[in-house]
Amino acid sequence: MAFDLEMIKTVYNGLGERVEAARRVVGRPLTLAEKILYAHLYNGATDKAFERGVSYVDFAPDRVAMQDATAQMALLQFMQAGKAKVSVPSTVHCDHLIQAKEGAEEDLAIANSENKEVYDFLASVSNKYGIGFWKPGAGIIHQVVLENYAFPGGMMIGTDSHTPNAGGLGMLAIGVGGADAVDVMAGMAWELKFPKLIGVKLTGKLSGWASPKDVILKVAGILTVKGGTGAIVEYFGEGSENMSCTGKATICNMGAEIGATTSVFAFDQSMVEYLSGTGRQDIAEAANAVADHLRPDPEVYADPASFYDQLIEINLSELEPHVNGPFTPDAAWPISQFAAAVKEHGWPEKLEVGLIGSCTNSSYEDITRAASVAEQAVSKGLAVNAEFTVTPGSELVRYTVQRDGLLDTFAQMGGVVLANACGPCIGQWARHTDDPKRRNSIITSFNRNFAKRNDGNPNTHAFVASPEIVTAFAIAGDLTFNPLTDTLTNKEGQQVKLDEPRGLEMPPQGYAVEDAGYQAPAENGSGVQVIVDPNSDRLELLEPFKPWEGTDLSGLRLLIKAQGKCTTDHISMAGPWLKYRGHLDNISNNMLIGAINAFNGEANSVRDFVTQGDGYNAVPQVARNYKSMGIGTIVVGDENYGEGSSREHAAMEPRHLGVRAILVKSFARIHETNLKKQGMLALTFANKADYDLIEEGDTIDIIGLTSFAPGKPLQIRLHHADGDTDLITVNHTYNEGQIEWFKAGSALNLIRQQQAQ
Ligand code: SF4
Repeated sequence: MAFDLEMIKTVYNGLGERVEAARRVVGRPLTLAEKILYAHLYNGATDKAFERGVSYVDFAPDRVAMQDATAQMALLQFMQAGKAKVSVPSTVHCDHLIQAKEGAEEDLAIANSENKEVYDFLASVSNKYGIGFWKPGAGIIHQVVLENYAFPGGMMIGTDSHTPNAGGLGMLAIGVGGADAVDVMAGMAWELKFPKLIGVKLTGKLSGWASPKDVILKVAGILTVKGGTGAIVEYFGEGSENMSCTGKATICNMGAEIGATTSVFAFDQSMVEYLSGTGRQDIAEAANAVADHLRPDPEVYADPASFYDQLIEINLSELEPHVNGPFTPDAAWPISQFAAAVKEHGWPEKLEVGLIGSCTNSSYEDITRAASVAEQAVSKGLAVNAEFTVTPGSELVRYTVQRDGLLDTFAQMGGVVLANACGPCIGQWARHTDDPKRRNSIITSFNRNFAKRNDGNPNTHAFVASPEIVTAFAIAGDLTFNPLTDTLTNKEGQQVKLDEPRGLEMPPQGYAVEDAGYQAPAENGSGVQVIVDPNSDRLELLEPFKPWEGTDLSGLRLLIKAQGKCTTDHISMAGPWLKYRGHLDNISNNMLIGAINAFNGEANSVRDFVTQGDGYNAVPQVARNYKSMGIGTIVVGDENYGEGSSREHAAMEPRHLGVRAILVKSFARIHETNLKKQGMLALTFANKADYDLIEEGDTIDIIGLTSFAPGKPLQIRLHHADGDTDLITVNHTYNEGQIEWFKAGSALNLIRQQQAQ
């Protein structure tokens, strides 16, 4: 198995000292999240405590994981850094591009053929730059990370929202955009606002039908989809020690559903067992040796309210199984109230499909518990009244549960085993349905259930529950069924009740696999050729952006003055465009097509004064026209420009199409930083009312760049079509280093220059 004992030992060697230094600076005992954060500062130590929810801090994560959709642009960018190898251990996981249709084997064969160019690129670039490559069919990123790379007290970033799954093994694992992955792989600092801390104290013990999934379904109900924003959720209490490591991972995984930065559990015996069971006995021993640093200080347990910004307490002994949904994961229904809710809201009572597995719930424990319910369909002579699918999270799990006969149990109840991939969890599901317009219900053990998420059908009501509850519902085929209290009529007309699920945390014969699907990179990748088909419309090697020309910028044209909300979705729309995410020129055809032009109130319709006189045209086309004539452009925006995701395309596309500056009333910070990284000018009006001075036919000069310095405003001269001019002051937040990015043309250009020296 591919893990990095040496790297982990290095982290553990300095841990005690770093934690003690942090304790001194903070001046009190520390929570677990604080220990891990302070132990991963980019500049080693700090002489001042950080303010939660306020301070921006540079971190040095231990590793990076990328899924195949987001990895494409991240790695294309990384290639620009001029490095021979990634700076920290990194992996690529081919999981998102496999469509679920017929079953594992057929679906995988189709994906291998349809996505060949993407897989060839990812495999070759991984091989060249020292990145571990997990082939299509190897498994879902978060499950594979849990089985191979997560370790207590570590810190990682992953280009996927459910990266926090690794918190089940005591790691601070944070979902980020591709640009952040590039920073860390290139050896740069990774910036994060120091999170607030939410403590969840778990008392009691789970029993019967209740499972770890129900903990997070309940927490989602309490905190809602926004309640964890900007916070790390730290679980503790004797209830957490009574829970399997993989169950903890399920809880951390779904912390993404409450918007949490990440979630984490303290190191305990369940982690020792999971590490040992997955072939990492030596890591378990190394962690045991520093166990005190992998848990909150005892004072935190004694008086948690003094250490967390918010405290929640859940008694596991009283926890009911939950079903959450439809359309949002925070609509939490204890099972005893669910049937009434279904009737009251008129949700379709007939359950059409039950889906178990995914990165959230496909541990050995999950599968054995679900199989113990599935087995009763046969032994009690019950008809199965809904379709049923199983998505194993990894080949390791799939092989093991097949060996142990569990997949046969599902097959006997009519279940279909899908590829070890995201499939129906991310809309990659060619669902068989006779009428897509029919309002219908499905239930999954996945994490998200927004409209259209699973099958692209807005009429599908998706509910989320534990795998065992999903299995019971699939047998009943009825959303008003409560397996804890209700009976079902079997084929002989008898009333039978399902027994409580039984599961095993670890396989009694151990995990096994023939081919886990891992491809180690070349020791020396200098001779490895990165494979990009020059005719591909999905992939394109990047050209470095041009450095600053050393002068003020003059004669820029206004590309668009955007009005109102302009999120990263308005700037770089998702949906069908995602297939071009590895091809900057092609995806740039979606640039700003969602932004509303302040002069005509329309989307994707702006004046092109140079090539088309008074004509209106699509934003990307106008940008291309100006670019072809060597005319730079400027985008003007409103408040909180670039809010939404950390998608780097939203900064790269304008840069690619010749936009030199984005001038707005205010920025969403992540987008502002992304613009800086791409060598753009991210500017704000010193006087917000100056937004109104911008006219459609303006030509624009940016003045003061030759003495560009931190804290020193720049000036902009507007030349209006009627001959008038206005001179306005604009602010910026560039520090010395970021000004160097601007001058070099991008942060990666600067790194490449430094490498060359
Ligand atoms: Fe994301 Fe679903 Fe794939 Fe998990 S299984 S990584 S939640 S798409």
